[in-house]
Amino acid sequence: MPLDPVPAEASDAILAWYAVTARPLAFRRTTDPYAVLVSELMAQQTQAERAAEAWERWIVRWPTARALAEAPTADVLRAWAGLGYNRRALAVHRAAKTIVAKHGGVVPADVATLQALPGVGPYTARAVAAIAFGQRVGAVDVNVRRVLGRIAAGGAEAFGPSAMQTLADAVVPHDAAAWTHALMDIGATLCRPRDPRCGECPAARWCRYAAGERPAATPAPAANSPDKRRPAPAFATTTRWLRGRILARARDAANGEWVSYSEAMGSHGARAVREAVMALAREGLLETRTAEPPHVPQARLPHEPTREPQP
Ligand code: SF4
Repeated sequence: MPLDPVPAEASDAILAWYAVTARPLAFRRTTDPYAVLVSELMAQQTQAERAAEAWERWIVRWPTARALAEAPTADVLRAWAGLGYNRRALAVHRAAKTIVAKHGGVVPADVATLQALPGVGPYTARAVAAIAFGQRVGAVDVNVRRVLGRIAAGGAEAFGPSAMQTLADAVVPHDAAAWTHALMDIGATLCRPRDPRCGECPAARWCRYAAGERPAATPAPAANSPDKRRPAPAFATTTRWLRGRILARARDAANGEWVSYSEAMGSHGARAVREAVMALAREGLLETRTAEPPHVPQARLPHEPTREPQP
């Protein structure tokens, strides 16, 4: 790790910048561990502003882990509409059930126990520990990796995963919650992958990237790196789009009503639809009947008791 990779003056400047420019995201008003956990799971892979809107409704409806644990799975999946990657809804629900069953309804404070909860990885566990419990641990996602890597060494490619985690943990200042949010905001608004807005960045005076430095040995992009990949297919042709449409139809149906998936959806033929319905059922997002060919699969949002996903 570079000597003094993020000097105290730099972290002070970042915290001062955050104090006046913080994005007014609803979930930043709380340090309640359950509410923070929900916000972090929602904001994974979803734009923060959209996650914040859903989070406000969610917390009113299910203000505690116990309330969420007791909710029907179908209601949880309906409340997740618009956030995408619906398996996260099941993960949040299962995390709440685990918190009730194993921790008396209280979100655990230590990183290892947090990380053992369903759907919680190293980033989310550290974000909750820092924001809700004030622990000086660094939550590293792709944005934070880019920001810290550029400040400390001119680029994240100078660090492997473990060295980056060591760096992130080492540079957390006294206010771990504000620091976590501030790095998120710099990564989202200033330190973009291309054309970072260094002129507006509170870290610019101390940033190696802004000074023109780059890591000594920057490996050439691998064959499967983003720079070398073919253009992404149109979204409506992807399995993700199809899964979202299938779940949207199940959400729109009345509670308990079976929905027939007999026809093609968009560019996806009836067979692809059937396979996607069955995959969603295996993952616990739907329940099905008359699923074997040649019958038309019928499905609905899960009715209790919730089934665990099949291997
Ligand atoms: S000065 Fe530029 S490169 Fe450095 S952290 Fe800020 S935006 Fe990123």
